Amino acid sequence: MTSTNFDDVYIKLLVDRLKNELREIRISFDYSLDFFLIRCPGCGSTDGLIKKGVRRRRRREETVQLYKCKFCGYKFTPESYLPGTYFPEWVLEEVVKLAVYGLSPGYIAKHIEEDSKWRGSKVTLTPRTVINLLKKCAKVLSEFEILALQRRSDEWQIDDMVQRRRAMFITNVIDSQTRYWISTHVSRERNVNASLKALRLAILRFKFEPRVVKCDGLKQHIIAIRRTCPNAKLISITKKEAFGIINQIESQHSRIRKRVPRSGTFRTIESMQSYLDLLRIYYNFFCQLESLNGKTPAQAVGLDFKPEYGWLTLMKLAGFYTRKYENLIKLIDLSV
Ligand SMILES: [Zn+2]
Repeated sequence: MTSTNFDDVYIKLLVDRLKNELREIRISFDYSLDFFLIRCPGCGSTDGLIKKGVRRRRRREETVQLYKCKFCGYKFTPESYLPGTYFPEWVLEEVVKLAVYGLSPGYIAKHIEEDSKWRGSKVTLTPRTVINLLKKCAKVLSEFEILALQRRSDEWQIDDMVQRRRAMFITNVIDSQTRYWISTHVSRERNVNASLKALRLAILRFKFEPRVVKCDGLKQHIIAIRRTCPNAKLISITKKEAFGIINQIESQHSRIRKRVPRSGTFRTIESMQSYLDLLRIYYNFFCQLESLNGKTPAQAVGLDFKPEYGWLTLMKLAGFYTRKYENLIKLIDLSV
């Protein structure tokens, strides 16, 4: 066991600070918001902007719109809040969409290259670049989640699953009532540390301990629950005793199995972690569940993001807020 109780003390302090500062922050999911408007970096004006043709960027086969401000004469290309901005927006959107459908980075790279020829441009991508893009997107979206979420829950479930071919363990925490997949943690070993990391992330995201935490009797989960959620009621029953007390998380695991690409891909812990975080965001923000009367888990926890806004809008929102609250994000990075 490498971690100490100190980490949980730190998480508590951090959560308290987040709750305080987030009281001032109004995270909005309205995509018609002001900050999506193009604005002159010279004088801040949003009207009187004249399109001045397109500029071709050297690094990639991409064109960007050039603007001139009628009031101050400033010429500029609008700032983008997307990660990996030197790619055209459609590339970013396609990469993420195809990845969460379970397609491999190699396939995605080829597909994008073909698609760009069809569009009359020439984007070149390697599987490595695809993985790097996925990492950047997953990072920004997961950080944004910490800024946006606050939830008191009745019950969480924690469990882990094995990826034998990759020699990895995936520990997941889910909120029973809203089906929100709160955290996922990928590790080489199945130990207390893995359960602790998954639970600490869950606490950071929801900011409150749940009333009850359920697990299947695995010792490391029990130890980690006692440490991270000391006030919660612990219900632990082995699968032999009563099948199905962690039914929520078991159905989540079968979903994950269907969507994780074959074992040739995502061989490192980091790439698998990013992939699963994107899958988690996809499930939380875009899957309208029958058990929630057609709501997404994100809507069920009170985040008013409409799935039809799409990935690009979600990523722009995430990019905007994580840049705005950079200092808070730095503290969070240190803690997990
Ligand atoms: Zn201006």
